[in-house]
Formats: sequence, C-alpha cells, structure tokens
Amino acid sequence: MLFKTIRTVGLVFVALVSASSLMSVSFASQTVQPVQESSVSLAINGTFTQGALVRGQVDKGAEVFLNGERVAANKDGKFVIGFEREAPLEQQLMVKSASGELLVRDITLSKREYDIQRIDGLEPKMVTPPKEVSARIKQDNINVANARSGNSELDALFTKFEWPATGPITGVYGSQRVLNGVPKWPHYGVDVGGPTGTPVYAPVDGVVTLAEDLYYSGNTLILDHGMTVFSTFLHLDSMTVEVGDKVKQGEQIGTIGATGRATGPHLDWRINLGKMRLDPQTVVSGTPNK
Ligand SMILES: [Zn+2]
Repeated sequence: MLFKTIRTVGLVFVALVSASSLMSVSFASQTVQPVQESSVSLAINGTFTQGALVRGQVDKGAEVFLNGERVAANKDGKFVIGFEREAPLEQQLMVKSASGELLVRDITLSKREYDIQRIDGLEPKMVTPPKEVSARIKQDNINVANARSGNSELDALFTKFEWPATGPITGVYGSQRVLNGVPKWPHYGVDVGGPTGTPVYAPVDGVVTLAEDLYYSGNTLILDHGMTVFSTFLHLDSMTVEVGDKVKQGEQIGTIGATGRATGPHLDWRINLGKMRLDPQTVVSGTPNK
C-alpha cells in the first residue's frame, strides 16, 4: 500500500507502508525515528482479535485511517473500528494529527477458533422456510437493515457495556450451526440462557430503532448506540419499549423468550458496526452469571 506524499511543517516526506513491515520515514535527507515513537496520541479500548469491536480516541482534529480507509472520529476524537469473524490478521491503523504528524501502528489480530454446533430435531419448516414465508423473510431483512442504517451522534457506545441479562452463556459468537444436518450461517450473537420472563436490560444507553416480531428471530429489538453501533436482541418473550424510545443503561426493555427459531428460551444478543457483525463479548467483560 502506498500512501500519498504528505506535506508537513513545510517539508515533504513519502511513506511507503506495507502491512507486514514497519514504516520507515525519510524526512528530508535524514532518517528519523520510526513513527511508532511519534508523539501523536492514540488511546485504544479493546482487544485486537477477529470479531472485535475496538474503541479509540485521538486528539481533536486528528484523522484516523484503518488500512488506508478513513474512519470517522467524533468531535471529541473518539472513533470505533471493527474486525469481522474472518478478518485478515494483518491490519494497519494510522493517525494523522492536526499538524500532519503521523502515527502508524501495524496490528496482528489474534486468530479465533470457532466451534461447529449441530442441532437436530428442528421442525423442517424452520430449517428450510416454506415458500409462503419467503416474502415475509425478505421484508424482515429490509426492516432490520433499515433499523441499522442510521449514523447517529450518540456516544453511548463509548461507555462501559453491561450484560443485558443474567444466566449462563449457552452459545458464542462465530460458531457454525448445522441444523438437521444442513450447514447454516455462523452464529453471530452471544446466547444467555434463562427462563421465559427473565428481564432483559439495555447494555448501554440507546434509541430503539426496531421492535418487531420477525420470522426467524421472533420478537426482536434493535438499539442504536451511536456511530453505527447497534445492539440486537432476539427471541424475546415481551418487548416493553417502542421504536423511538430513548433507553438508559440498565433499563428493562423486554424479557427472555423462545419466539421465532429458538430451541428454548434464551437471549441472543448481537452487536453490529454498520454491516459488520461483531462479538458482543469483545465489548462486555466478565460473565452474565449472577
Ligand atoms: Zn443465538
């Protein structure tokens, strides 16, 4: 990857960057220290693994780039990046300060191992949906995409997430499900088991963008946490908020259920960054046990 010539404090340097090598900089005719030791500030809150949502902060006015692509930062210099389930392990984060100084950090994500989970005995119509529901499923998908299409200025995503329910973890992100012998999409949520009626709370503040009964996921709630970060809660028994409601962290939004395609009552909690499906366990610490 070749970055453009960047003009800084009246001088010009050219940075040649590859994903695997450290960046070296020629500054006029003299070689300067590697930019990793630059004074450009970069704070990171997160773990560099596949599936991770990572929050960060730079000085006001600085620009952030991930693999050469500009990442939006808010007025406080806060930004969010994500790495999908099978994201390439070699990544590069670059910060350009308001004065043009660069910080380049080469990142190697830790590789995840995902489980294969076999579930048999499902009603065949829930594995391969009957033709007459295909229009409904298509509409469900449109509604979900719309509910996650906003880019609000909320900054709730930068606060500490809490588990939305208490109970044992019964399913994890990334595992692949084989339903009645048919391989399906990987599982993109974390499942918390609990009896029907167990309260579900907002993990951080948010605005409700969907509260609807969907074919696969049953009663489904989506919360906007800002900057294209959304939580989704699936299979709810009840939903006690409506689209447009502003909810506070810890506020009850519904109860655990087994609606839609579920083998038993549990909460399936998902995190999206735009279209990226990320692992909720990379934003919340500990376990959801009491
Ligand atoms: Zn699940």
